Amino acid sequence: MHNTAFCRVCFLLLFERKVDRSIAKNHMFSRSDHVLVAVSGGKDSLALWHVLARQGYQTTGLHLSLGIGDYSAQSRDKTEAFALARGLPLIVRDLQEVAEDISIPRVAAFTNRRPCAACGKIKRHCLDATALEHGFTVLATGHNLDDEAARLLGNVLHWQQDHLAKQQPVLQPVHPKFVTKVRPLYLTSEFETATYAFLSGIDYVIDECPNSVGATQLLYKAMLNRLEAEMPGTKHSFVRDFQRVAQPVFAATRNTPPGDCAVCGMPSYGTVCSFCSLVAEVHAKRERARPTA
Ligand code: SF4
Repeated sequence: MHNTAFCRVCFLLLFERKVDRSIAKNHMFSRSDHVLVAVSGGKDSLALWHVLARQGYQTTGLHLSLGIGDYSAQSRDKTEAFALARGLPLIVRDLQEVAEDISIPRVAAFTNRRPCAACGKIKRHCLDATALEHGFTVLATGHNLDDEAARLLGNVLHWQQDHLAKQQPVLQPVHPKFVTKVRPLYLTSEFETATYAFLSGIDYVIDECPNSVGATQLLYKAMLNRLEAEMPGTKHSFVRDFQRVAQPVFAATRNTPPGDCAVCGMPSYGTVCSFCSLVAEVHAKRERARPTA
């Protein structure tokens, strides 16, 4: 944040002002909006929800229970305890209730995919569908500067034009069933959010998801941390200058709006959306794996 030492009170104040400025400067939402906040139970999403509630924004949390053993159980417990202690409304969706056999370990086992590949798709669908179902117009996530820099590095290394076109702190809906998606912490480092969560007494899940071992995203983060150690400010300027200089060029290439999925009706670029295709694949493979009488 600054190359200066702060007392607890000043740090919390500066952090909250920084997040509020990011929301205002990027026209993310106002105090008249009711914001759905995706909360995993980790430090970033709980810190974000805490700041927004303290700043007087109307918020509801949304927790997706992913079915990843103890990790998911702990994440849900911490999120529910956080909401209860502060009297904040929380929606919890269990993937088992969204579609049969769609927990992350089951999907990975049936499809032979890495768990994270399926997880991203499932989470995106559930967040979009829940926001629509409950009539929210804004969905906020706790992605921080380190997440954004690692994602940008991955997108640039593979020249993922479509992904670069969508990498924005505010993603306006391109379909009536989508809501505005915002990332108020996109210029706030992981260290800052961890410090804020700690100093605010937030009890969050410290363990990483067991599926994150060996994830490419962690390799990118490690490389960026090395650069940051040699050249402080690298992550910040990488993300900020991308948004200022290059992102508008990629965003201008997004001109085909999605249609409606033939199965669930949510926005889709194909006849059937990637979530429904995944569910169909899991169910077909599960039927094939059943012993015949
Ligand atoms: Fe999902 Fe992978 Fe993150 Fe675990 S590490 S929550 S499986 S995306």
